[in-house]
Amino acid sequence: MTLSIRIGQGYDIHRLIPIKEGSEQETPLTLGGFGVPQAPFAVVAHSDGDVVLHALMDALLGAMALGDIGDHFPPSNPAFAGANSQELLTQTLALLAQQGAAPVQMDATVVLEQPKLGPYKQAIRASLAQLLQLPLSQVSFKAKTAEGLGPLGTSQAVAASVTVLVQVCE
Ligand code: MG
Repeated sequence: MTLSIRIGQGYDIHRLIPIKEGSEQETPLTLGGFGVPQAPFAVVAHSDGDVVLHALMDALLGAMALGDIGDHFPPSNPAFAGANSQELLTQTLALLAQQGAAPVQMDATVVLEQPKLGPYKQAIRASLAQLLQLPLSQVSFKAKTAEGLGPLGTSQAVAASVTVLVQVCE
């Protein structure tokens, strides 16, 4: 049996709309499987719009050169309308497991102007650790603003970037 380590990175961005102007498609702001309380913005997305989990899935697939989430869960497929990202993550982890692969470490960054995520960072980190079944020490979650610049800085969007290390037993 040989052990190898592979690296993957993922990125995602979704549009935000103020809650009070939300349409039927609005989705409460969920990051890393954690619902941010009283966020003034909702995510515009086909799925639940969890940018952290979407970036994480792309990172996991990328580590194994398995394409991207659009290949596996196409938004054109009505089966994935309003899809729960946690369920899709479970399917992604199962795909990796078929190849003897499992994540061993992750590092995530979210860019969001409002609300400030400081009070929720540890809860988001704990949620990610639980979803990945990893010890907290192997999971990092960071939050930044965009300093008022561009669509991210004017609360028109939220973005996430994730890097993972995946261990493969062959
Ligand atoms: Mg997405």
